[in-house]
Amino acid sequence: VIEIGTPERSVITTCAYCGVGCSFKAELNGDQLVRMVPWKHGKANRGHSCVKGRFAYGYATHQDRILNPMIRDKITDPWREVSWDEAMSFAAGRMRGLQDQYGKNAIGVITSSRCTNEETYLVQKLTRAVFGNNNTDTCARVCHSPTGYGLGQTFGTSAGTQDFDSVEHTDVVVVIGANPTDGHPVFASRLKKRLRAGAKLIVIDPRRIDLVRSAHVSAAHHLALRPGTNVAVVSAMAHVIVTEGLAAESYIRERCDWEEYLAYSDFIGDARHSPEATELLTGVPAAELRAAARAFATGGNGAIYYGLGVTEHSQGSTTVMGIANLAMLTGNVGRKGVGVNPLRGQNNVQGSCDMGSFPHELPGYRHVKGAEVRAIFEKAWGVEIDPEPGLRIPNMLDAAVEGTFKGLYCQGEDILQSDPDTKHVAAGLAAMECVIVHDLFLNETANYAHVFLPGSSFLEKDGTFTNAERRINRVRRVMAPKNGYEDWEVTQLLANAMGAGWHYTHPSQIMAEIAMTTPSFAGVTYEVLEEKGSVQWPCNEAHPDGTPLMHVDGFVRGKGRFIVTEYVATDEKTGPRFPLLLTTGRTLSQYNVGAQTRRTANVAWHDEDVLEIHPHDAEVRGVKDRDWVRLASRAGETSLRAKITDRVSPGVVYTTFHHPDTQANVITTDFSDWATNCPEFKVTAVQVNLSNGP
Ligand code: SF4
Repeated sequence: VIEIGTPERSVITTCAYCGVGCSFKAELNGDQLVRMVPWKHGKANRGHSCVKGRFAYGYATHQDRILNPMIRDKITDPWREVSWDEAMSFAAGRMRGLQDQYGKNAIGVITSSRCTNEETYLVQKLTRAVFGNNNTDTCARVCHSPTGYGLGQTFGTSAGTQDFDSVEHTDVVVVIGANPTDGHPVFASRLKKRLRAGAKLIVIDPRRIDLVRSAHVSAAHHLALRPGTNVAVVSAMAHVIVTEGLAAESYIRERCDWEEYLAYSDFIGDARHSPEATELLTGVPAAELRAAARAFATGGNGAIYYGLGVTEHSQGSTTVMGIANLAMLTGNVGRKGVGVNPLRGQNNVQGSCDMGSFPHELPGYRHVKGAEVRAIFEKAWGVEIDPEPGLRIPNMLDAAVEGTFKGLYCQGEDILQSDPDTKHVAAGLAAMECVIVHDLFLNETANYAHVFLPGSSFLEKDGTFTNAERRINRVRRVMAPKNGYEDWEVTQLLANAMGAGWHYTHPSQIMAEIAMTTPSFAGVTYEVLEEKGSVQWPCNEAHPDGTPLMHVDGFVRGKGRFIVTEYVATDEKTGPRFPLLLTTGRTLSQYNVGAQTRRTANVAWHDEDVLEIHPHDAEVRGVKDRDWVRLASRAGETSLRAKITDRVSPGVVYTTFHHPDTQANVITTDFSDWATNCPEFKVTAVQVNLSNGP
């Protein structure tokens, strides 16, 4: 028991883990953070929290943090601690030298959804205004980029359509490819409360997630599909709705493009989308597909929540569009209790996408080819903006291997651990002549770096995060940055070392520039956030208090657009050598690659990644619970312990990816979403055999 006493002061800030965006009161004695108390006035959490936000902040003061800049000529040299001036001069000199030698497109940036909106805005501005290209990408590339594409195409903007409160009005909850209990725990509690009150639940997931137990058995449908067949299941549900006359025709006539709907209904009504045909592809019994479709179409307000089990597929964007079709088909967009809601994994995935981190979009989801949009930023920044979209992360790595991409500024991302095909990532990094890693810790990517710039934690900075319901929450400085600078200041130092002449003195000035250039943020100021606590974008003259529900009077794009979603099987095939399908997910107490959660004082959290395997598949391999097994794919292999469970179906295995020893991404393939290059992390053909351990 630790005696904390009465804290001397407190600061209200926002959790830096998941996209729920819980507000916390950080309590301090002197400079010591003694407790994180969930804040009762936080609009996303109303006094609730999960174990990560409440207890897993020790990483911010962990001894592993690097507090001084370091440089080295070659990646085989030892690191040399230097002043900030020397580090910036070295980094700027190398990056400019690479542009002189190889052309302006030879360098770029990767930013993180862990960073604030203001930091992210500055990083894409660095790319466009200082580097002079559009080679800026974000870790959302490997998680929710298909959301950007799919919802943009169908609704006109990439965002959840309703606020968390809206779930109180939902009668049928569809959860597809998400596990809120572990990934978004505070919102999961609200879902469970609604289910206990009688709402029906439809879970579309290869694994029986905890939420299934929360609904009355008679009110729960679990469609345990074969990994990689989301599109077929969603299409089968739409087929039932269309062919049984359950579509909301008057809504569709009024709100959607009718001609496109007619083309879609012809397509989806074809017998190849029938539940019987779909059962063969997906393994989901036709009767269950039919029952779930009827429940969704006739059960009242229907809301769809989805996660990376939708997006991280070769057809991730297609599934997102299929989900949007399903919502429009049943009239379930534009009022309380309904809608389509991407559950964003990291704290600021929504914000990093909003802020123009993608190589084809300026802030506010406006294509860089648009001359009028470029003109807004050219006027604000005093530069000309390249109209050609830049390189995505996988394109940067390919170009590096080919010898045309030479320099990378990587902020808050460990791409060697988090991106697919680890060997290819390593080859790309090794081929570059200047890799700048800006992070709290010397991560795996830093093994290939020439410059290390120490980062600041969320406790050491001012700014804003935008959560999964588009809510812009303030992040407030709880303690001074241990490295001397907040991350936005480090980006400014680099920009100025390259000749930019920026002179921001506080993130509120960056937000003022965002508001000036981005219509959906036009009414957002730090004063407004102080007064209201938080606001949901769009926040502007038309919506001064923000916008909890989108697409109320019409879709952002005008008429909602039905898009034909043809199921195309992934190229990743099972066969005699690799007969099982591996899919992945998270556990409650850990977070992504574990850089933060593994650096907490509580050893009870340091669980391991295990391989869930069905009793039948375990028996035929002679595997018992807790045995070490070798998990092998066409890409690579690793070892981990087996957990025998019928939560997964025969033929499917499942693991988490929190521990570097497991190296789950050594196993995964390099297949990716056809529209966005989001990697297909969720489907890998594997074999499992008994082993002697790592
Ligand atoms: Fe943080 Fe998400 Fe947990 Fe809330 S639910 S405390 S935002 S990790």
